[in-house]
Amino acid sequence: MINGERTISQPLRWGMVGGGRTGQVGYKHRTGALRDSTYRLVAGAFDLNAARGRDFGINLGVSEDRCYATYQELICGERSREDGVDVVSVATPNFTHYEITKALLEANIHVICEKPLFFSTAECEEIAALAERKELIVGVTYGFTGHPMVRQMAAMVARGMLGEIRLVDMQYTHGFNAGDDADAPDAVKWRTNPKTAGATFVLGDIGTHVYYLSEIVLPHLKVEKLLCDRKAFIPSRAPLEDHATVLMHYDNGARGRLWVSSVNAGNMGSQRYRFIGSKASVEWSDSHPDQLIYEVQGEPVRIMHHGMLYLEEESLAIDRMGALHTEGLGDSWANIYLWIAQAIDAKARGDEAFLKTHHYPGIKAGTDGVRWLENCVRSADAGAAWVDFK
Ligand code: NAD
Repeated sequence: MINGERTISQPLRWGMVGGGRTGQVGYKHRTGALRDSTYRLVAGAFDLNAARGRDFGINLGVSEDRCYATYQELICGERSREDGVDVVSVATPNFTHYEITKALLEANIHVICEKPLFFSTAECEEIAALAERKELIVGVTYGFTGHPMVRQMAAMVARGMLGEIRLVDMQYTHGFNAGDDADAPDAVKWRTNPKTAGATFVLGDIGTHVYYLSEIVLPHLKVEKLLCDRKAFIPSRAPLEDHATVLMHYDNGARGRLWVSSVNAGNMGSQRYRFIGSKASVEWSDSHPDQLIYEVQGEPVRIMHHGMLYLEEESLAIDRMGALHTEGLGDSWANIYLWIAQAIDAKARGDEAFLKTHHYPGIKAGTDGVRWLENCVRSADAGAAWVDFK
């Protein structure tokens, strides 16, 4: 169980680029980071609107002289201080991730970056090499994958409780973009423009979360082929998609199906996963994240609850609230931030043995997501053809 006790030698001096007052995801980062005495928010270039960003930063408790107008000024200002930031989170639109991450790493600052990480695997590989050369960590914030019930599914698969995995059925959908974009906020405008979003809309925006969660639960399976059918139901979003179906063939013969959509009108179900093996299945949804449905063929259905002693040790080890209380997205983010902090701390101590077995969403997780997107686009552009996964 995690109880907030510090697990690293010193709290990390933390900064943010983006995630300002009007940003959607910024508060999730702060919810995750400011939980376990692992990070102290000391600097930021929070907003494209510099005055609003400064005012916002001051309200967050950051001193005025460390509320910067741009990320370049943040790097310059923090480098000139003895107590400059150790790590900076990048919570800005997709097209800025690569340049900001690169500049931070070049300035010897660890990075925690939003997904989809970059526009291409070539960029990911270049940044991975830079981070390695500089001995720095790049973390990626796949929000729900720190939840104890996600780790419970992974542990059950690893212990063979489902048998051989045969079918993977996944969905991440909502209806918030069912209407057109005439009065859409900036956060929708940049997401539906290839110059600012990259080669995908919903596949990158929500599909990458699903793909990474499936990698956590099924680390032993690799996608061999996939077929992606994508469509923009609102024509102005083309060539980007507001809906996609992806079929996947895994190397053990399993079959996967993923549906991502932002035009599932009225739907508030968000994410749902069902992993089906030769003996049993598990099902989890972020609508009821505390619960896992475990169905063994020929036996009554079981609903497992987070924090209960019948769960696997990997799940109990990262539980925060205890079984009687809700464990949700904020707790999951706190785990992800904690794991990344532990990786940064180990890197600073030169503890490569710890890093070898320590699990956190890092540059490989970000790269895998981008690679999956490239394969989806290649398939979709070939008319929803089956393609070998490269
Ligand atoms: P948003 O448009 O709502 O907010 C972006 C914020 O960044 C704003 O505060 C804006 O002023 C600021 N900003 C933009 N460019 C900047 C720059 N160059 N320097 C400083 N600040 C800048 O976007 P959002 O929905 O918060 O998404 C941001 C990123 O987070 C995207 O990559 C998105 O895919 C990702 N995201 C991830 C999750 C998750 O669960 N991990 C959830 C939502 C969004």
